[in-house]
Amino acid sequence: MTDQEKAELQKLVSTPVKWDCSLAPFTSFGVGGPATAVIVVEELSELANLLKYCSRNKLRYRFIGRGTNILVEDNGFDGVVLLFGKNLSAIKLLEDSEPENIRIQVGAGCSLAKLLNWCSKRSFSGLEFASGIPGSVGGAVIMNAGAWAGEMADVLAAVNVFSMTSGEEKITRDKLDFGYRKWRNRNNAAGEERLVVSAEIVLQKGTKATIETKCREYQKKRKEKQPKGLKNAGSFFKNPPGDSAGRLIEAAGLKGTRCGDAMVSSVHANFLVNTGKARADDIKQLMQIVVKKVKEESGIELQAEVHFL
Ligand SMILES: Cc1cc2nc3c(=O)[nH]c(=O)nc-3n(C[C@H](O)[C@H](O)[C@H](O)COP(=O)(O)OP(=O)(O)OC[C@H]3O[C@@H](n4cnc5c(N)ncnc54)[C@H](O)[C@@H]3O)c2cc1C
Repeated sequence: MTDQEKAELQKLVSTPVKWDCSLAPFTSFGVGGPATAVIVVEELSELANLLKYCSRNKLRYRFIGRGTNILVEDNGFDGVVLLFGKNLSAIKLLEDSEPENIRIQVGAGCSLAKLLNWCSKRSFSGLEFASGIPGSVGGAVIMNAGAWAGEMADVLAAVNVFSMTSGEEKITRDKLDFGYRKWRNRNNAAGEERLVVSAEIVLQKGTKATIETKCREYQKKRKEKQPKGLKNAGSFFKNPPGDSAGRLIEAAGLKGTRCGDAMVSSVHANFLVNTGKARADDIKQLMQIVVKKVKEESGIELQAEVHFL
């Protein structure tokens, strides 16, 4: 980008644009090259101007939350990476909320951990399944994140989205089509990907002690089953219908298999871990080895759950 283009882009937002910025620290894998620019968006009006600017200047853009389900390529991202700041991460109780069915609105930038903490303090139950999932609310909607037989689709009443051609839209639950780790009708009529701005969630009144006990129980199970202290993006592959990716990978004898510093975890075979200075290429090569071997052994072709950027 020329200095003039950079100055124009900077004028559109209230936060300092980070130029040629490594994306590795923005992801739980801790790998990947730089983006042309990384921008923290604090206002919806800024978002509208940014998208217009990107479209006018043929600049690619991509949104990330906490980067816990993303693998960034070693050569980075030739475009603008957008993240939501504090103003777009707020939690509020909606006024028309009923005592039994409590409705809240949460900004997409809010972490699930913060949201759960907020809910448990008020004895609002329904999100316990998400305890220990390390992403943002926006990322959780896009991924239909879930665990222990619960998923985001179960608690969502509506999703507020933004896209350049349609602007702000509220999509109610009856018009949202979720699948396994997937929001199917994410694109608008023009084929543009919608950005999640906030989510409306329905919860029930519970008791603080029961909610906290459930969350602790789920976190304990995670600690027992998941690798500790090594960077990763959670389950790398989706579970095929009726089976588990971890079981298939383990049965194919792949635990501990390495490519450079990328390794199939010896604790949970569906976790590919960065044991030190892995590159995205190491992780992708390891992914290919896993897919090939599992296919040979079981006939099943694993699909990545992790998104690529
Ligand atoms: C240790 C560990 C355990 C995990 N356990 C689970 C689990 O039990 N269950 C589970 O489902 N997942 C799990 N995950 C994966 C991950 O945490 C979830 O998928 C999470 O919902 C991703 O949120 P994020 O904010 O990090 O999204 P990101 O990784 O930042 O992004 C994921 C995708 O969503 C897009 N995106 C993000 N925010 C927005 C937005 N506001 N608007 C539009 N697009 C957006 C990105 O472009 C990308 O395509 C785990 C990950 C780790 C590291």
